[in-house]
Amino acid sequence: MLSKDEFFKTGEIVNLAEHAVYEELAALIDRAEIEFCQCDKCLFDIACVVLNNIPNLYSSSIVDRTYPSAEFKDEYNNLKLLAADEIPQAIERIKKRLHH
Ligand SMILES: [Zn+2]
Repeated sequence: MLSKDEFFKTGEIVNLAEHAVYEELAALIDRAEIEFCQCDKCLFDIACVVLNNIPNLYSSSIVDRTYPSAEFKDEYNNLKLLAADEIPQAIERIKKRLHH
């Protein structure tokens, strides 16, 4: 068996919740609706808070990810909605405890 670092560095295991959070965070930044620090550290903190509050969606199949089933697409779209809901609350939390 691969070592822990090698195992996860293969990139075979993907948590699509991370993609959903990234996409929604980028979309929110594009819309410039909320003012907040957008340094890497704050964005990492915001992403972690959101990821801890929404379900994971793991996949080890590039085929499933490239040609997702309707069910898989629904799950992903649902995660994006959850992420979009959670991000503003996460921003408020991080604003209160700036790390930098
Ligand atoms: Zn910051």
